[in-house]
Amino acid sequence: MGSVAEVDLTRLRVEYGDTTALAGVDLSVRDGEFFTLVGPSGCGKTTTLRCVAGFEEPTGGRVTVGGEPMAGVPPEARGVGVVFQNYALFPHMTVGENVAYGLKFADPPGGVGRDERVADLLDLVDMAGFEGRDPGTLSGGQRQRVALARALAPGPRLLLLDEPMSALDARLRERLRVQVREIQQELSITTVYVTHDQEEALAVSDRVAVMNDGRVEQVGAPRDVYDAPATRFVAEFLGDNNVLTGEVRASTAEGCTLDVRGHALRVPPCDAAVGDRLTVCVRPEDLRVGGGGENRLTVAVGSAEFLGDTTRLHCEWEGTPVTVRADRDPTGTVTVGFDPADVHVIG
Ligand code: ATP
Repeated sequence: MGSVAEVDLTRLRVEYGDTTALAGVDLSVRDGEFFTLVGPSGCGKTTTLRCVAGFEEPTGGRVTVGGEPMAGVPPEARGVGVVFQNYALFPHMTVGENVAYGLKFADPPGGVGRDERVADLLDLVDMAGFEGRDPGTLSGGQRQRVALARALAPGPRLLLLDEPMSALDARLRERLRVQVREIQQELSITTVYVTHDQEEALAVSDRVAVMNDGRVEQVGAPRDVYDAPATRFVAEFLGDNNVLTGEVRASTAEGCTLDVRGHALRVPPCDAAVGDRLTVCVRPEDLRVGGGGENRLTVAVGSAEFLGDTTRLHCEWEGTPVTVRADRDPTGTVTVGFDPADVHVIG
């Protein structure tokens, strides 16, 4: 521990026969960062993580950790701790023995004894006193905390987490993700986290990489990626969004006017020229039922989902689905309004 552990992936490619799992991934994870790979099933998240861990030899490109090339370095010599989706605890060993197994290839850091190290880690993951328990008697969340303690036991410079919470129920997942984040911050350990759950990614990460079809679409802080998606895919993958495409009718330093299905929409200034096609998006929470704002759409309300703190309205505008967040659920036809400043231009 204490060593610098930034991770650099350069033009990483992985092919399985005719399947291209990674089509040239470039990423830099900073030392001490909680970095999340998020994207739909099959987009290459796990393959990326396996290349960093050393379980997968890339077909092309390279992985460096702390500036050291990892080609040919076996997993146990990389200084990484890994936690997988399914609880990989040994059923015939106690909780304490499982954590101690993490020290099979390495002495405990800081010159402490094995028993002390095991006790410290169980304390860290809030499982003190469970040393003698059989993993079969633990809840799913407890087992994943033991798996985390085992991964951390040798003091890795890098923690890799592959959907560690996906088998848990929603409430427990929320609790555990907060705990994992706190532990990560306490240890300042560089962490690469894989999830398909966009809400989870936004909630815990310093930065996220949104992946699609073996490529990285965008990297950034959660709020930046949410507010300013670089591509239509990112706009639609992270949270609800309304994506509209139109033709530029006017473009000045004050803003652009777009023709979308015969309606004029004002959007922020951008470097598009008159006649260009432009794709923009506006979040459901920025649409106001009743029509406040420079832009107005008359939408037909289809269905409403009551979400507790808000209601999600599924509407239709000129044959295009439009999602609106509202504090009531109107029926029939309503006007929704929004300001040009709340529109994000994708390009
Ligand atoms: P999920 O969220 O479903 O786990 P993922 O984003 O982690 O998905 P990967 O597991 O990295 O995706 O898989 C990327 C692509 O590579 C997929 O098309 C998958 O079918 C393919 N793939 C992964 N492992 C193999 C393998 N051993 N042999 C053949 N194809 C594979």
